[in-house]
Order: sequence, then C-alpha cells, then structure tokens
Amino acid sequence: MPIATVNPADGETLKTFDPHPGEEVERRLAEADRAFRTYRSTSFEERARLLNAAADLLEREAAEIARVMTTEMGKTFAAAKAEAAKCVKAMRWYAAHAEGLLADEHPAGADVKDSGAVSAHVHYRPLGPVLAVMPWNFPLWQVIRFAAPALMAGNVGLLKHASNVPQTALYLGELFRRAGFPEGCFQTLLVSSGAIEGVLRDPRVVAATLTGSEPAGRSVASIAADEIKKTVLELGGSDPYIVMPSADVEAAARTAVTARVQNNGQSCIAAKRFLVHTEIYDAFAELFAAGMRELTVGDPMAAATDVGPLSSEQGRADLEELVADAVVQGAEALCGGRRPPGFERGWFYEPTVLTGVTDRMRIHREEAFGPVATLYRVRDLDDAVALANDTPFGLSSNVWTRDEAEVDRFVRDLEAGGVFVNGMTASHPALPFGGVKRSGYGRELAGHGIREFCNMTTVWRA
Ligand code: NDP
Repeated sequence: MPIATVNPADGETLKTFDPHPGEEVERRLAEADRAFRTYRSTSFEERARLLNAAADLLEREAAEIARVMTTEMGKTFAAAKAEAAKCVKAMRWYAAHAEGLLADEHPAGADVKDSGAVSAHVHYRPLGPVLAVMPWNFPLWQVIRFAAPALMAGNVGLLKHASNVPQTALYLGELFRRAGFPEGCFQTLLVSSGAIEGVLRDPRVVAATLTGSEPAGRSVASIAADEIKKTVLELGGSDPYIVMPSADVEAAARTAVTARVQNNGQSCIAAKRFLVHTEIYDAFAELFAAGMRELTVGDPMAAATDVGPLSSEQGRADLEELVADAVVQGAEALCGGRRPPGFERGWFYEPTVLTGVTDRMRIHREEAFGPVATLYRVRDLDDAVALANDTPFGLSSNVWTRDEAEVDRFVRDLEAGGVFVNGMTASHPALPFGGVKRSGYGRELAGHGIREFCNMTTVWRA
C-alpha cells in the first residue's frame, strides 16, 4: 500500500511519501533507545508539564489538524475537531492523574507478614520503547490514547501509522518534539506494514500495541509472542444494540442512528447489530430507518453533512460485497443499500438498514465497517443474549431497558468488554477500553491502560 494522502471525497491523490529507508529506521530506533535511558528517570511533574504543553499545542492547532484528518480519511470536519478536543482532554487527564495511577501499592502488613517481609510493596516502572501500530479511523485519538499514558509512565513510543494518514502521522511525531519532549521520546516511522517485523524483533523494542483488523493483530501478536514481548490488541467489533420493551423507544432509535453512523460508520465501537424485542420491533424499525434516511451524505468539510465518504475505495468495495452477499440470500434494505445517486467521485455509501439477516450471511459474522446496520427481531431476554453473543467479536455492547433485572442479566452474560445501559458506547480517559474474543485483549485508558506497559515490580524487604 503506497504511503499517500488520497482524498476519499474525490479520489484525488494529493501527496505521496517515500517510506523511511532502513538506515533512517535504524537511526530512529537508536534514538528511542537513547531517549529511554534518561527519560525513564524524569519526574511525573516534568512529564506532566511536557504533556500539557503538547495538549496546549494541539488545542491551538485543532482546526488545522482536523482539516488534514478530513482530507486524509474522510470523517466530517466537525467530527475531526471533536476528535482533536477529545485528545486534548485525555492528555490533560493523564498529566493530572498518572502519578496517582502509578503510585506504589502497599498490601496490608498482615497479608505479607508470613512472607518474612518487614515491608513489601509494588512499584511501577516503565518498560522501554513501545511500538504502536495504528489505524486510520481515528487517526489522532487512537495514537494519543496510547501515547499519553505511555509517555506519562516513562516509556517512549514509535508510531507506525496507517499508510493513508501520513500527514497526521508526521504531525504527531512533531507535536511531542515541539512540546519539548526530549528527542526520541515519540517518533513516527514512515514505513509499510512489511517493515514491522524487523522493528518488532529488534531487541530495543520491548512491546507493541495494535489497533486495527484481525489479520494485522494476529501478525503483530505472533511475531511479538515469538520474541516474548507484551502486546495489547484492539481489533474489530460487531457490537450489539439491544432494545427491550421497557426502553424509551424514541430515544433508543435516535441514539441508534448516531451509534451506527458515527465516523461514517467506521468505528470499532459503533453499534452494528440492532436486536429489538418483538413487542417494540415495528415502532423501532420505523423510527430507526427514518432517522437513517434523513442523514445528509456528502462533502465532509460541509457543516450540513452527517456522513462523509468511506476512507478508501477498497473499504467501500468490501462493504458493498457484504451487503450484496446478504441481499442475494434474502436480506432486505429498509433504506440505502447502494451508493448515493449524484456522486460520481468519492467513496460514498448510503446509510443502510438491513432486515431478514440470517446466520448464513457473511454480515452476520463479519464486521461491517461503514454505515450499514443489521436489524434483528428477538423473542425475549434469552434470545437477545444468545444472539448478541453469536459473533466472534466482543468489544462492547449497548442495552436499552428500564428493568434492573434485565440490566443485571446483560452485565452478567454479554460477552464484551463493555455494557452501556440506555446510551451508546463511547470511550473516556477514566474508563478502561478493550474487548474479549476476537476483539483483542488488554485494556487501554484509565489506570488499567497505563499499567499495561509497566514493569510491575515487587519490592520486598526483610
Ligand atoms: P489494517 O488492520 O490493515 O490497518 C491497521 C494498521 O495495521 C495500519 O497501520 C496497517 O498498516 C497495519 N497493518 C496492516 N496489515 C498488517 C500486518 N500484516 N502486520 C502488521 N501491521 C499491519 O486495517 P484496514 O485499514 O485494512 O481495515 C480493514 C478492516 O480492519 C476494517 O474493515 C475493519 O474491519 C478493521 N479495522 C478496525 C479498526 C478498529 O478501530 N478496531 C480500525 C481499522 C480497521 P498499512 O496501513 O501500512 O497497511
């Protein structure tokens, strides 16, 4: 895949980049190694000062970088600005909280007395240079979500970003340097995915985090396993959105539209499968389809646009294949199911609701990475739970009900890293984020995320 900015709104190639040659990659690896040796001993106060400076820069430059993101991957300009603001918030959150999250932990004296210890505690130390392989869908957020905690923990980062967002990737490398972080603390490697193995096997790189597809995750995790290096994987999702009879159906349908089409439908935590109790199915289906039909598809820079293009021609082709496979086998589109008329250029697709989906169809098991919802009728609570779990993925889940017993059942039985009740899944710096099953392992954000790349050291004293 060439490293290039290609505008998804018109298919035009705006800028291409030569990948870093091997010597440059080597120079950056050496720089990361050198930087870690001193940066690891900096105080939390100093790291917080630097991270806040980077947050201030990003806040000032939000509109500029948002324009770049929209041009590189097609999200609406409004969504891109919101993404930049979310990054600023997360950076400031980690600057304020990292020291507390990584404070020494002292088990109760009585609990360790029989170990012979006079005192014992757990001390968190950084690990070293961590490789971050990141996707294009939230080109700033996915990176900051890793970088802010990693830098606050005293680690240093090497970013291999997706090949279609090179300008955002270069901006991120510069952002931390311009904020005053020592040279080598956070660097972008402009390389294709073929170069990852060499970087990951390099002894100076101690761990990796990847957000992206299952094949990419499998490849990075296998190489890291072979080298006995820690990984965190955040892969795809096909999150259920369950609506039970006691729910506020109007609110559920309204939020369902946003939950499905956020980021032009290309979010791992977007609700993708809508499981609606038979008693309210018809009312929900009508409101949901009407809400999807009302969306404005078009120029992502325009303020009136709700849904921009998909990020790549291949991405749209993959989505079209999934829909065609379902329709051929009997699924029906309540709305959409095609490219919007009047767009000769750009990779647009109409917001779509499919009914009549069965387990023989690919879309039942695979992630639909675009504005396509599948709508299912469920008989009862057991049926809802069984269908929700009938997927290889387990990232998050959304449930709409006012019945506490139902909430308890969902929290107990849904196979996912999150259960969001009467709302839609969203990430927040103070809440852990990640999945189970084929959605990956490990957690990002909160205390759980910052500790993933720490050496949790037991200190025992006689
Ligand atoms: P990829 O997983 O291919 O891309 C994500 C990152 O992984 C990029 O930096 C990419 O680099 C890199 N990568 C790709 N292949 C490998 C590999 N074999 N070894 C190591 N790194 C690799 O995502 P796509 O853009 O191809 O999207 C395909 C599907 O993945 C989507 O339809 C969606 O289902 C899922 N996806 C999920 C995301 C999420 O948020 N969980 C985000 C993006 C995609 P390069 O760009 O150079 O290939």
